[in-house]
Amino acid sequence: MTAKHVIDVDRCKGCGLCVAVCPKNVLEIAGKVNSKGYFPAYQARPEDCVLCAICCTMCPDVAITIVETARAEEAQG
Ligand code: SF4
Ligand code: SF4
Repeated sequence: MTAKHVIDVDRCKGCGLCVAVCPKNVLEIAGKVNSKGYFPAYQARPEDCVLCAICCTMCPDVAITIVETARAEEAQG
């Protein structure tokens, strides 16, 4: 399975919980505000992400998801 780690910047309240729990130190808080006026988390080191989904579980605003990217190809067999 191929998957992608996605942060919905406009759902994020910049609480920093995901930054703290990531075992790979992938995430940081951005220096620019989102549409709600919060400083959102972003993938500072996306190449280090192991798609463990701890950050998705931790986020109180469900702003982070792991999206399967190869589903269409698998369906075609
Ligand atoms: S999925 Fe895991 S490794 Fe990737 S950013 Fe989230 S906590 Fe870090
Ligand atoms: S845990 Fe969720 S709301 Fe908090 S900084 Fe991370 S993405 Fe944003």
